[in-house]
Amino acid sequence: MQLRNPLGVHALVWAGDTSPASVAHAVAQTARTGFDLLEISLHDSLNLDVAAARKLLQENGLKVACSRGLAFDADVSSADPAVVERGAKLLHDSLVITHELGGTHFTGALYSALGKYGAPLTDAGRANVVGVLRDLAASAQDRSMTLGLEVCNRYETNVINTAADALRLADDIGADNVLVHLDTYHMNIEEDDLVRPVRLVGDRLGYVHIGENHRGYLGSGHLDFTAFFHALADISYTGPITFESFSSAVAARGLSNDLAIWRNLWDDGEDLARHARQFLANHLTARPA
Ligand code: MN
Repeated sequence: MQLRNPLGVHALVWAGDTSPASVAHAVAQTARTGFDLLEISLHDSLNLDVAAARKLLQENGLKVACSRGLAFDADVSSADPAVVERGAKLLHDSLVITHELGGTHFTGALYSALGKYGAPLTDAGRANVVGVLRDLAASAQDRSMTLGLEVCNRYETNVINTAADALRLADDIGADNVLVHLDTYHMNIEEDDLVRPVRLVGDRLGYVHIGENHRGYLGSGHLDFTAFFHALADISYTGPITFESFSSAVAARGLSNDLAIWRNLWDDGEDLARHARQFLANHLTARPA
């Protein structure tokens, strides 16, 4: 059965860095396990050979999306102009890389560092987020790209923790190509359930991460994926659905620490990915018309 959503897998299922060998492995494994899209985290993009990666993706018939969070010394939610400026440059450089890879979706915690903040977001910090992302959205629009605001839990950001927060931020940015990115792992911590946020966001949903409550094998935790997929069907969502999972078995310098990946939830990325691909397809084909 033809699915109406591109199914993606996060590159951290395959490799912890973006060296040429790691990218080649991630692309080959993504294609081999039947996914349509590879999501590449740009947290460590210095090593990335963009032209070589683009060629490999094309040769394997894969779409690509890129994601990232910022850092406390390069953070557009800061009140310090120098810190904001470094964050804005990271975002712009990452947008260009995404475009050069052939991607149309640049998403993630584009609005702050990934980490525990010691105080609430300030008004000045929020104004900086709005200003920087308004400019980034214009640059994205010139490239026919969309930006995703990934809603993250309270331990990873203080800017947007719920779908309602993300819609308010997107309204203030005021650009049609800024969409909301929901992630079931974060929703489990912050939202009332996995259904209402999907209905609230509706046609402004642009990207989805599927993760278990502990970020391991789908179905091995307690999340109500049946309800979540029914909600996606209710809003006729046709965008990417990307499986995101982390284990200390694949360590990414920086990102693993930011996301508190201390435990080994799986060893065999290929078995994990094959299982996830089937799990997603089952839920998408079993949903009501
Ligand atoms: Mn996510």
